[in-house]
Amino acid sequence: MGYEKIKVPAEGEKITMVDGKLQVPDQVIMPFIEGDGTGRDIWKASVRVFDAAVEKAYGGKRKIHWMEVYAGEKAFKLFNDWLPSETIDAFNEFLVGIKGPLTTPIGGGITSLNVALRKLLDLYVCQRPVVYLEGTPSPVKHPEYVDMVIFRENTEDIYAGIEFEYGTEDNKKFKELFKENFPERYKRMRFPDTAGIGIKPVSEEGSKRLVHAAIQWALDNGRHTVSLVHKGNIMKYTEGAFRLWGYEVAKTDFRNEIVTERETWILGNKDKNPDLTVEENAKMIDPGFDMMAPDKQAEIVAEVEEALALWETHGNGQWKSKLLIKDTIADIVFQQTITRAKEFDVLATMNLNGDFLSDALAAQIGGMGIAPGANINYETGAAIFEATHGTAPKYADLDKVNPGSVILSGEMMFRYMGWDEVADLILKGMSGAISAKTVTYDFERLMDGATLLKCSEFGDAIIEHMDD
Ligand code: NAP
Repeated sequence: MGYEKIKVPAEGEKITMVDGKLQVPDQVIMPFIEGDGTGRDIWKASVRVFDAAVEKAYGGKRKIHWMEVYAGEKAFKLFNDWLPSETIDAFNEFLVGIKGPLTTPIGGGITSLNVALRKLLDLYVCQRPVVYLEGTPSPVKHPEYVDMVIFRENTEDIYAGIEFEYGTEDNKKFKELFKENFPERYKRMRFPDTAGIGIKPVSEEGSKRLVHAAIQWALDNGRHTVSLVHKGNIMKYTEGAFRLWGYEVAKTDFRNEIVTERETWILGNKDKNPDLTVEENAKMIDPGFDMMAPDKQAEIVAEVEEALALWETHGNGQWKSKLLIKDTIADIVFQQTITRAKEFDVLATMNLNGDFLSDALAAQIGGMGIAPGANINYETGAAIFEATHGTAPKYADLDKVNPGSVILSGEMMFRYMGWDEVADLILKGMSGAISAKTVTYDFERLMDGATLLKCSEFGDAIIEHMDD
């Protein structure tokens, strides 16, 4: 494909997806977006770490040929366009890439560039690991218990951007339609005359493909639980439906490999007492059973029977070795991931909940400076790796901030490509630099006796510690 301003390196080949498997050549052309604000400093430090790790791991046999593509301020200067179409074309063609943070232009009606990239490339999984590295400053007593991976749905929810600004013609028109067609629901608006409106679409396909990806990843990586995070007690037909569809996809696509939390109770009861009747079992899992209406009781009995029908593959304690699927309400999960971190492993969330939760969890393991992420479509193989944080503009071009999130996003990228030796070296270098207390300002202010390094110097320290 011809590009106007993107220079495709003369050497190297594309990553492709063949029969559901990523094909990674030894000489890879890799698109990158430098990013705005602190992205410039962070990218300079990160690319040196990546190149050093690849060189140390493969001594020239494998190499990344970097190809700059444009978005954000740099794109606006070059193309008069915040997100030129050739950037999307390049990510589509070369499949896997990495980016720094981008400014979201405020006003002017431009939606977030990050959200636009995820939607245009249909990168429906936002995958954010939250893992503690020894020596990292943390506000909690046992940060070493934190080893979680968030699978955040990336294309739906209120991030779909269907909003009607108060005071506009569209807002008026929408409310008229709403009032006319759904008068009872219209009345539920407390101040309808001055309300801005947002719509939250959550679909069966969108929810199921996200939960499917989370479960598949959990199985492939020997994890123990997947928690479906939702606020279904309030938003029954969006958040509640996400929970329902999550369990459905778990049972239809992974029946032999998984067990739900309620099934563990039923099977566990039967394990302990083989003579237990279905009704007795139903009363044990739902202590309010006797007070329930007959149709609700019949529902619980059917649930017990369905679980007991799994006896051959799940009975006699076999369920204990299956991947556990459970669910948790989105408010309490913020407390429990701190107070009972050990009980959380993979978390499958909707878009907004996952956005909040990943920033909150990052605080436990050192903060935004060290919070990596990836946007992935597991069917097409397309992926863009990126830090969780933004452009932190007040620190731009000061060579100050922590490049850790982009560097660890690179670590994820190399693992995704199957270049585990590179990923391991990056982790080793990063752990070594942190253990030696040679860190950037964000860690230094929280550590006793640490040496303050610039962004670029932290990159150097990581490279040095790869040889430890
Ligand atoms: P931000 O850029 O994430 O920065 C918030 C704070 O997080 C910083 O002031 C700093 O805290 C800390 N931080 C962020 N990056 C850090 C790093 N590399 N090392 C150490 N500390 C770091 O959030 P914002 O200021 O609200 O957003 C700025 C712009 O970024 C906006 O235009 C926003 O839309 C955009 N944004 C982009 C992305 C993306 O590209 N994916 C994501 C989020 C936001 P201290 O000052 O306490 O040290």
